[in-house]
Amino acid sequence: MTRTEKLLAELIALPSVNPAFLPPRHPHAGEKNIADFLATVAARAGLEVEFQNVFGVRGHVRALESGDRSSHSKIERRNIIARLRPKNKIKQTILLAPHLDTVGADGTKFIPQRKNGRLYGRGACDTKGSVAAMLSALCELANSKSRPLETEIIFAGLIDEEHAQAGSRALVKNFKADLAIVGEPTKLQVVTAHKGSLWLELETRGKAAHGATPQFGKNAIHEMSRIVDLLETDYATRLRKRKHPLLGAATVNVGTVSGGTQANIVPDICKISIDRRTLPDETNAKVKSEMAAFLRGKNLSAKISSTKLAPALPLETNHKLPLVQKFMKCVGQSKPLGVHFFCDAAILSAGGIPSVVFGPGDMAQAHTAVEWISLAELERGKDLLFKFLNSLP
Ligand SMILES: [Zn+2]
Repeated sequence: MTRTEKLLAELIALPSVNPAFLPPRHPHAGEKNIADFLATVAARAGLEVEFQNVFGVRGHVRALESGDRSSHSKIERRNIIARLRPKNKIKQTILLAPHLDTVGADGTKFIPQRKNGRLYGRGACDTKGSVAAMLSALCELANSKSRPLETEIIFAGLIDEEHAQAGSRALVKNFKADLAIVGEPTKLQVVTAHKGSLWLELETRGKAAHGATPQFGKNAIHEMSRIVDLLETDYATRLRKRKHPLLGAATVNVGTVSGGTQANIVPDICKISIDRRTLPDETNAKVKSEMAAFLRGKNLSAKISSTKLAPALPLETNHKLPLVQKFMKCVGQSKPLGVHFFCDAAILSAGGIPSVVFGPGDMAQAHTAVEWISLAELERGKDLLFKFLNSLP
Protein backbone atom coordinates (compact mmCIF):
# COMPACT_ATOMS: atom_id res chain seq x y z
CA MET A 1 0.00 0.00 0.00
CA THR A 2 1.43 3.39 -0.98
CA ARG A 3 1.48 6.36 1.40
CA THR A 4 -1.10 8.13 -0.74
CA GLU A 5 -3.47 5.16 -0.61
CA LYS A 6 -3.00 4.81 3.14
CA LEU A 7 -3.75 8.51 3.62
CA LEU A 8 -6.88 8.25 1.46
CA ALA A 9 -8.13 5.21 3.38
CA GLU A 10 -7.62 7.08 6.66
CA LEU A 11 -9.51 10.08 5.28
CA ILE A 12 -12.46 7.98 4.08
CA ALA A 13 -12.67 6.48 7.58
CA LEU A 14 -13.22 9.96 9.02
CA PRO A 15 -16.84 11.07 8.44
CA SER A 16 -16.75 14.58 7.02
CA VAL A 17 -20.24 15.45 5.88
CA ASN A 18 -20.85 19.16 5.51
CA PRO A 19 -22.68 20.18 8.74
CA ALA A 20 -25.16 22.20 6.66
CA PHE A 21 -26.66 18.88 5.47
CA LEU A 22 -27.11 17.40 8.97
CA PRO A 23 -28.93 18.08 12.23
CA PRO A 24 -26.75 19.75 14.92
CA ARG A 25 -23.94 17.65 16.47
CA HIS A 26 -24.50 14.72 14.12
CA PRO A 27 -21.63 12.19 14.33
CA HIS A 28 -21.10 12.26 10.55
CA ALA A 29 -20.30 15.99 10.56
CA GLY A 30 -16.60 16.33 10.64
CA GLU A 31 -14.57 18.75 8.58
CA LYS A 32 -12.85 19.54 11.87
CA ASN A 33 -11.70 15.93 12.31
CA ILE A 34 -10.26 15.97 8.81
CA ALA A 35 -8.52 19.31 9.36
CA ASP A 36 -7.01 18.15 12.66
CA PHE A 37 -5.88 14.86 11.16
CA LEU A 38 -4.27 16.56 8.14
CA ALA A 39 -2.54 19.04 10.46
CA THR A 40 -0.84 16.13 12.22
CA VAL A 41 0.20 14.52 8.93
CA ALA A 42 1.55 17.82 7.58
CA ALA A 43 3.42 18.72 10.77
CA ARG A 44 5.04 15.28 10.83
CA ALA A 45 6.40 15.96 7.33
CA GLY A 46 7.89 19.26 8.52
CA LEU A 47 5.32 21.61 6.99
CA GLU A 48 4.25 24.79 8.78
CA VAL A 49 0.65 24.38 9.84
CA GLU A 50 -2.00 26.93 10.71
CA PHE A 51 -5.78 27.07 10.76
CA GLN A 52 -8.10 29.69 9.40
CA ASN A 53 -11.39 29.85 11.27
CA VAL A 54 -14.28 30.38 8.90
CA PHE A 55 -17.30 29.84 11.13
CA GLY A 56 -16.94 29.64 14.86
CA VAL A 57 -15.47 31.25 17.89
CA ARG A 58 -12.37 33.43 17.98
CA GLY A 59 -10.88 35.25 15.03
CA HIS A 60 -13.50 33.98 12.65
CA VAL A 61 -13.99 35.31 9.19
CA ARG A 62 -17.55 35.92 8.12
CA ALA A 63 -17.33 34.53 4.65
CA LEU A 64 -20.88 35.17 3.67
CA GLU A 65 -22.56 38.52 3.70
CA SER A 66 -26.02 37.20 4.40
CA GLY A 67 -28.11 34.11 4.67
CA ASP A 68 -28.56 31.28 7.10
CA ARG A 69 -25.81 31.33 9.68
CA SER A 70 -27.69 29.70 12.51
CA SER A 71 -26.65 26.17 11.64
CA HIS A 72 -23.01 27.17 11.55
CA SER A 73 -22.69 29.69 14.33
CA LYS A 74 -21.73 27.37 17.17
CA ILE A 75 -19.55 24.99 15.23
CA GLU A 76 -15.91 25.72 14.73
CA ARG A 77 -15.22 25.14 11.08
CA ARG A 78 -11.80 25.95 9.77
CA ASN A 79 -9.55 25.68 6.75
CA ILE A 80 -6.24 23.95 7.32
CA ILE A 81 -3.17 25.60 5.79
CA ALA A 82 0.13 23.71 5.46
CA ARG A 83 3.05 25.61 4.01
CA LEU A 84 6.36 24.58 2.47
CA ARG A 85 8.64 27.61 2.46
CA PRO A 86 11.52 27.77 0.01
CA LYS A 87 15.09 28.29 1.25
CA ASN A 88 15.48 31.56 -0.63
CA LYS A 89 13.29 34.59 -0.94
CA ILE A 90 9.75 33.75 -2.13
CA LYS A 91 9.34 34.63 -5.80
CA GLN A 92 6.04 32.82 -6.41
CA THR A 93 3.37 30.92 -4.53
CA ILE A 94 1.43 27.85 -5.63
CA LEU A 95 -1.75 26.92 -3.83
CA LEU A 96 -3.06 23.36 -3.68
CA ALA A 97 -6.71 23.67 -2.72
CA PRO A 98 -8.99 20.65 -2.35
CA HIS A 99 -12.07 20.72 -0.12
CA LEU A 100 -12.51 18.80 3.13
CA ASP A 101 -16.28 18.32 3.21
CA THR A 102 -18.38 15.68 1.51
CA VAL A 103 -22.05 15.19 0.80
CA GLY A 104 -24.05 12.88 3.08
CA ALA A 105 -23.84 9.10 3.27
CA ASP A 106 -24.87 6.24 5.53
CA GLY A 107 -22.33 4.94 8.03
CA THR A 108 -21.10 2.08 5.83
CA LYS A 109 -19.62 4.59 3.38
CA PHE A 110 -17.06 5.64 5.97
CA ILE A 111 -15.45 2.22 5.94
CA PRO A 112 -12.92 2.21 3.09
CA GLN A 113 -13.14 -0.90 0.87
CA ARG A 114 -10.38 -1.94 -1.50
CA LYS A 115 -11.47 -4.04 -4.49
CA ASN A 116 -10.05 -4.64 -7.99
CA GLY A 117 -7.62 -1.73 -7.89
CA ARG A 118 -10.24 0.67 -6.58
CA LEU A 119 -10.86 2.26 -3.22
CA TYR A 120 -14.53 2.70 -2.31
CA GLY A 121 -16.09 5.08 0.19
CA ARG A 122 -17.64 8.52 0.59
CA GLY A 123 -15.24 11.16 -0.68
CA ALA A 124 -12.99 8.66 -2.48
CA CYS A 125 -13.06 10.85 -5.59
CA ASP A 126 -14.89 13.98 -4.36
CA THR A 127 -12.54 14.96 -3.05
CA LYS A 128 -10.51 13.14 -0.47
CA GLY A 129 -8.61 11.55 -3.38
CA SER A 130 -7.33 15.00 -4.34
CA VAL A 131 -6.60 15.81 -0.68
CA ALA A 132 -4.48 12.66 -0.40
CA ALA A 133 -2.67 13.17 -3.73
CA MET A 134 -1.94 16.84 -3.06
CA LEU A 135 -0.80 16.52 0.54
CA SER A 136 1.26 13.40 -0.23
CA ALA A 137 3.01 15.20 -3.10
CA LEU A 138 3.80 18.12 -0.81
CA CYS A 139 5.03 15.92 2.05
CA GLU A 140 7.21 14.01 -0.40
CA LEU A 141 8.61 17.28 -1.70
CA ALA A 142 9.31 18.51 1.84
CA ASN A 143 11.46 15.44 2.40
CA SER A 144 13.16 15.33 -0.96
CA LYS A 145 16.72 16.55 -1.52
CA SER A 146 15.86 18.69 -4.50
CA ARG A 147 13.01 21.07 -4.08
CA PRO A 148 12.05 24.58 -5.25
CA LEU A 149 14.32 27.30 -3.92
CA GLU A 150 12.09 30.29 -4.64
CA THR A 151 8.58 28.83 -4.84
CA GLU A 152 6.37 28.68 -1.80
CA ILE A 153 3.77 25.91 -1.86
CA ILE A 154 0.66 26.08 0.27
CA PHE A 155 -1.79 23.25 0.81
CA ALA A 156 -5.19 24.67 1.78
CA GLY A 157 -7.85 22.16 2.84
CA LEU A 158 -11.10 24.10 2.46
CA ILE A 159 -14.41 23.65 4.25
CA ASP A 160 -17.93 23.97 2.89
CA GLU A 161 -17.40 23.52 -0.85
CA GLU A 162 -20.44 21.28 -1.16
CA HIS A 163 -22.74 23.88 0.37
CA ALA A 164 -21.88 27.58 0.07
CA GLN A 165 -18.11 27.55 -0.58
CA ALA A 166 -17.39 29.55 2.58
CA GLY A 167 -13.90 28.04 2.91
CA SER A 168 -12.62 29.40 -0.40
CA ARG A 169 -14.41 32.71 0.13
CA ALA A 170 -12.56 33.14 3.43
CA LEU A 171 -9.22 31.94 2.08
CA VAL A 172 -9.09 34.35 -0.81
CA LYS A 173 -9.52 37.30 1.55
CA ASN A 174 -6.24 36.49 3.28
CA PHE A 175 -4.10 34.60 0.78
CA LYS A 176 -2.60 35.50 -2.56
CA ALA A 177 -0.95 33.08 -4.97
CA ASP A 178 0.31 32.93 -8.55
CA LEU A 179 -1.60 29.75 -9.31
CA ALA A 180 -4.18 27.69 -7.45
CA ILE A 181 -4.72 24.05 -8.34
CA VAL A 182 -8.16 23.22 -6.99
CA GLY A 183 -8.66 19.53 -6.27
CA GLU A 184 -11.71 17.93 -7.86
CA PRO A 185 -12.05 14.69 -9.85
CA THR A 186 -11.07 15.67 -13.41
CA LYS A 187 -9.51 12.33 -14.46
CA LEU A 188 -6.13 14.08 -14.14
CA GLN A 189 -6.92 16.70 -16.74
CA VAL A 190 -6.28 20.40 -16.25
CA VAL A 191 -9.59 22.26 -16.31
CA THR A 192 -9.56 26.00 -16.98
CA ALA A 193 -13.27 26.77 -17.32
CA HIS A 194 -16.60 25.83 -15.83
CA LYS A 195 -20.09 27.27 -15.73
CA GLY A 196 -21.63 29.05 -12.77
CA SER A 197 -25.04 28.38 -11.27
CA LEU A 198 -27.65 30.92 -10.34
CA TRP A 199 -30.89 29.93 -8.64
CA LEU A 200 -33.72 32.29 -9.36
CA GLU A 201 -37.25 32.53 -8.07
CA LEU A 202 -39.91 34.07 -10.27
CA GLU A 203 -43.17 35.22 -8.78
CA THR A 204 -46.34 36.29 -10.56
CA ARG A 205 -49.16 38.13 -8.83
CA GLY A 206 -52.84 37.88 -9.78
CA LYS A 207 -56.12 38.70 -8.08
CA ALA A 208 -58.12 36.19 -6.01
CA ALA A 209 -61.78 35.61 -6.83
CA HIS A 210 -64.43 32.93 -6.38
CA GLY A 211 -63.90 29.91 -8.62
CA ALA A 212 -67.46 30.35 -9.93
CA THR A 213 -66.66 33.85 -11.21
CA PRO A 214 -63.11 33.70 -12.50
CA GLN A 215 -63.77 36.70 -14.72
CA PHE A 216 -63.49 38.91 -11.61
CA GLY A 217 -60.01 37.65 -10.76
CA LYS A 218 -56.61 37.40 -12.40
CA ASN A 219 -55.04 33.98 -12.53
CA ALA A 220 -51.38 34.06 -11.39
CA ILE A 221 -50.86 30.41 -12.46
CA HIS A 222 -52.03 31.15 -15.98
CA GLU A 223 -49.57 34.03 -16.26
CA MET A 224 -46.80 31.81 -14.90
CA SER A 225 -47.64 28.95 -17.23
CA ARG A 226 -46.99 31.26 -20.19
CA ILE A 227 -43.69 32.29 -18.61
CA VAL A 228 -42.64 28.65 -18.05
CA ASP A 229 -43.47 27.80 -21.62
CA LEU A 230 -41.46 30.72 -23.01
CA LEU A 231 -38.47 30.06 -20.75
CA GLU A 232 -38.31 26.46 -21.87
CA THR A 233 -38.74 27.34 -25.56
CA ASP A 234 -37.82 30.85 -26.83
CA TYR A 235 -35.49 31.76 -23.98
CA ALA A 236 -33.69 28.39 -24.02
CA THR A 237 -33.26 28.70 -27.80
CA ARG A 238 -31.71 32.14 -27.36
CA LEU A 239 -29.25 30.72 -24.84
CA ARG A 240 -28.30 27.88 -27.17
CA LYS A 241 -27.20 30.37 -29.81
CA ARG A 242 -24.47 31.90 -27.64
CA LYS A 243 -21.74 29.29 -27.37
CA HIS A 244 -18.58 29.37 -25.26
CA PRO A 245 -15.70 27.50 -26.94
CA LEU A 246 -15.03 25.26 -23.92
CA LEU A 247 -18.42 25.19 -22.22
CA GLY A 248 -21.04 25.27 -24.91
CA ALA A 249 -24.23 27.20 -24.15
CA ALA A 250 -25.76 28.48 -20.94
CA THR A 251 -28.87 26.57 -19.85
CA VAL A 252 -32.11 27.14 -18.02
CA ASN A 253 -34.17 24.63 -16.06
CA VAL A 254 -37.50 25.33 -14.42
CA GLY A 255 -37.18 23.07 -11.38
CA THR A 256 -40.22 23.71 -9.16
CA VAL A 257 -43.62 25.33 -9.36
CA SER A 258 -46.08 26.27 -6.65
CA GLY A 259 -49.23 28.34 -6.60
CA GLY A 260 -52.86 28.51 -5.62
CA THR A 261 -54.63 27.18 -2.56
CA GLN A 262 -57.66 25.23 -3.75
CA ALA A 263 -59.63 24.48 -6.88
CA ASN A 264 -62.45 26.99 -6.30
CA ILE A 265 -60.26 30.05 -5.73
CA VAL A 266 -58.60 32.02 -8.53
CA PRO A 267 -54.92 31.91 -7.53
CA ASP A 268 -53.35 35.26 -6.75
CA ILE A 269 -49.76 34.04 -6.52
CA CYS A 270 -47.53 31.57 -8.33
CA LYS A 271 -43.81 30.87 -7.96
CA ILE A 272 -41.25 28.89 -9.90
CA SER A 273 -37.60 28.21 -9.18
CA ILE A 274 -34.99 28.11 -11.89
CA ASP A 275 -31.46 26.80 -12.15
CA ARG A 276 -29.69 29.02 -14.64
CA ARG A 277 -26.19 27.79 -15.56
CA THR A 278 -24.07 30.78 -16.48
CA LEU A 279 -21.15 31.38 -18.83
CA PRO A 280 -17.99 33.23 -17.75
CA ASP A 281 -19.15 36.60 -19.12
CA GLU A 282 -22.54 36.46 -17.38
CA THR A 283 -22.91 38.23 -14.08
CA ASN A 284 -25.91 37.58 -11.88
CA ALA A 285 -27.21 41.11 -12.39
CA LYS A 286 -26.87 40.72 -16.15
CA VAL A 287 -28.83 37.45 -16.18
CA LYS A 288 -31.64 38.92 -14.08
CA SER A 289 -32.02 42.06 -16.16
CA GLU A 290 -31.84 40.06 -19.37
CA MET A 291 -34.61 37.75 -18.17
CA ALA A 292 -36.76 40.68 -17.04
CA ALA A 293 -36.32 42.33 -20.45
CA PHE A 294 -37.21 39.05 -22.18
CA LEU A 295 -40.49 38.85 -20.22
CA ARG A 296 -41.30 42.52 -20.82
CA GLY A 297 -40.83 41.90 -24.54
CA LYS A 298 -43.57 39.25 -24.30
CA ASN A 299 -45.88 41.49 -22.24
CA LEU A 300 -45.35 39.38 -19.14
CA SER A 301 -43.94 40.32 -15.79
CA ALA A 302 -42.62 38.52 -12.73
CA LYS A 303 -40.62 39.45 -9.67
CA ILE A 304 -37.16 37.88 -10.06
CA SER A 305 -34.93 37.15 -7.07
CA SER A 306 -31.89 34.97 -6.30
CA THR A 307 -32.44 32.17 -3.81
CA LYS A 308 -28.97 30.69 -3.37
CA LEU A 309 -27.08 31.53 -0.20
CA ALA A 310 -24.23 32.54 -2.47
CA PRO A 311 -24.35 32.08 -6.24
CA ALA A 312 -21.74 29.74 -7.71
CA LEU A 313 -19.54 31.76 -10.03
CA PRO A 314 -18.34 30.65 -13.46
CA LEU A 315 -14.61 30.07 -14.08
CA GLU A 316 -12.46 31.07 -17.00
CA THR A 317 -8.70 31.11 -16.55
CA ASN A 318 -6.39 32.10 -19.37
CA HIS A 319 -4.71 28.85 -20.37
CA LYS A 320 -1.85 30.80 -21.92
CA LEU A 321 -0.56 31.93 -18.52
CA PRO A 322 2.99 30.56 -18.15
CA LEU A 323 2.26 28.57 -14.97
CA VAL A 324 -0.89 27.06 -16.47
CA GLN A 325 1.03 26.15 -19.62
CA LYS A 326 3.77 24.58 -17.56
CA PHE A 327 1.30 22.53 -15.55
CA MET A 328 -0.57 21.40 -18.68
CA LYS A 329 2.71 20.38 -20.30
CA CYS A 330 3.69 18.42 -17.21
CA VAL A 331 0.35 16.57 -17.33
CA GLY A 332 0.75 15.99 -21.08
CA GLN A 333 -2.20 18.08 -22.18
CA SER A 334 -2.13 20.46 -25.14
CA LYS A 335 -5.65 21.92 -25.12
CA PRO A 336 -7.58 23.66 -22.32
CA LEU A 337 -10.71 21.96 -21.01
CA GLY A 338 -14.08 23.02 -19.65
CA VAL A 339 -16.39 20.98 -17.39
CA HIS A 340 -20.06 21.12 -16.42
CA PHE A 341 -19.62 21.20 -12.62
CA PHE A 342 -18.65 24.25 -10.57
CA CYS A 343 -16.16 24.40 -7.71
CA ASP A 344 -13.94 26.58 -5.51
CA ALA A 345 -11.68 27.51 -8.44
CA ALA A 346 -14.12 30.22 -9.55
CA ILE A 347 -14.17 31.81 -6.10
CA LEU A 348 -10.37 31.88 -5.88
CA SER A 349 -10.15 33.17 -9.42
CA ALA A 350 -12.66 35.96 -8.77
CA GLY A 351 -10.54 36.89 -5.74
CA GLY A 352 -7.47 37.37 -7.93
CA ILE A 353 -5.75 33.96 -7.89
CA PRO A 354 -5.47 32.36 -11.35
CA SER A 355 -7.01 28.92 -10.80
CA VAL A 356 -7.30 25.59 -12.54
CA VAL A 357 -9.02 22.38 -11.45
CA PHE A 358 -7.18 19.07 -11.33
CA GLY A 359 -7.46 15.79 -9.49
CA PRO A 360 -7.70 12.02 -9.73
CA GLY A 361 -11.08 10.32 -10.13
CA ASP A 362 -14.16 10.88 -12.22
CA MET A 363 -16.97 13.27 -11.30
CA ALA A 364 -19.38 10.62 -12.63
CA GLN A 365 -18.81 8.73 -9.35
CA ALA A 366 -19.11 11.78 -7.09
CA HIS A 367 -22.18 12.07 -4.82
CA THR A 368 -23.32 8.55 -5.85
CA ALA A 369 -24.14 5.63 -3.55
CA VAL A 370 -21.10 3.77 -4.91
CA GLU A 371 -18.22 6.26 -4.87
CA TRP A 372 -14.76 4.99 -5.80
CA ILE A 373 -11.40 5.97 -7.17
CA SER A 374 -8.84 4.08 -9.23
CA LEU A 375 -5.77 3.59 -7.05
CA ALA A 376 -3.47 3.73 -10.08
CA GLU A 377 -4.95 7.10 -11.00
CA LEU A 378 -4.62 8.34 -7.44
CA GLU A 379 -0.93 7.47 -7.43
CA ARG A 380 -0.39 8.97 -10.85
CA GLY A 381 -2.08 12.17 -9.64
CA LYS A 382 0.36 12.39 -6.76
CA ASP A 383 3.29 11.74 -9.13
CA LEU A 384 2.18 14.43 -11.61
CA LEU A 385 1.76 16.99 -8.85
CA PHE A 386 5.15 16.12 -7.41
CA LYS A 387 6.76 16.37 -10.85
CA PHE A 388 5.17 19.77 -11.49
CA LEU A 389 6.01 21.23 -8.10
CA ASN A 390 9.54 19.88 -8.20
CA SER A 391 10.10 21.46 -11.62
CA LEU A 392 9.47 24.96 -10.29
CA PRO A 393 12.39 27.29 -9.49
ZN1 LIG B 1 -15.94 18.32 -4.83
